[in-house]
Amino acid sequence: MWLLLALLVLAAARASVAAESHWCYEIQAKAPNQHCLGPSNWTGSCQKNRQSPINIVTHKAKEDQNLGHFLFSGYDKKQKRTVQNNGHSVMVSLEKEITITGGGLPTQYQATQLHLHWSSRMNNGSEHSIDGEHFAMEMHIVHTKVTGTSRNTKEAQNTGDDIAVLAFLVKDGPNMNDGFRPLVEALSHIPKPNMNTVMGEFRLLDMLPKEEKLRHYFRYQGSLTTPNCDETVVWTVFQEPIELHKDQILAFSQKLWYDAEERIEMTDNVRPLQSLGQRTVFKSFKSRAPGQLLPLPLPALLVPTLTYLAASFLR
Ligand SMILES: [Zn+2]
Repeated sequence: MWLLLALLVLAAARASVAAESHWCYEIQAKAPNQHCLGPSNWTGSCQKNRQSPINIVTHKAKEDQNLGHFLFSGYDKKQKRTVQNNGHSVMVSLEKEITITGGGLPTQYQATQLHLHWSSRMNNGSEHSIDGEHFAMEMHIVHTKVTGTSRNTKEAQNTGDDIAVLAFLVKDGPNMNDGFRPLVEALSHIPKPNMNTVMGEFRLLDMLPKEEKLRHYFRYQGSLTTPNCDETVVWTVFQEPIELHKDQILAFSQKLWYDAEERIEMTDNVRPLQSLGQRTVFKSFKSRAPGQLLPLPLPALLVPTLTYLAASFLR
């Protein structure tokens, strides 16, 4: 009898460990009757010291001349793609013909997927922050390193840059963003985890800020922002945000659920900031010197004003 009881207790304990071992975001961990692991208890590499996301302090970022412009290949291809609710985010699968080179990266990287992080609060949904400011959303386009045919052992050991993530901050603007229409429309077809659907044709390029704006970016060495938080990511955080209409941003929080029972809305799927530690953040551009802050708008304002003043003075 005692043995049977002991076995039952043991079995129950094991079941509760298994249920608790699944990772989740803070908002899920705080919900009633949830037994998942919130960010402070994530395992793997998550408690190490080269983690992401971070706050980027722009005046401390160091200009690096090697951070040139990116060459995007396949980003302009119109394609139908599958999008999935994976229980943590929405993830669009990308074909490996989509690649990036340049941008100070050591070699070519091929795309695997893109996903987003968001909140229903317009200043809370990005993972990275810039000078302490969070944005409404953040989009991550994940790429993996294309390894050459030569199997150099030294190269194989260097895993700090196996993954290149392009991060785009998203803010709310006055207009509907047509580039995001296929994704936003797909959301109502994938409310619950493990559901997927095929989106209408779209080009990745149409989801990004104008290409000439993509020369300004920040670069640092960090980790995946979900377990196991592998410290193998070369991060690129673009300075120019994507603009979506507020309704498009809110659609993510309103149409998606973390759980099959539709108890917890999928929102605030954001890992808290991690400390920069000994790392350096680099930037691809020179910051303007003080007093040089408004290179165009100020003269553009001043000239007509002065002309008007001169004209009224001479009258
Ligand atoms: Zn992400």
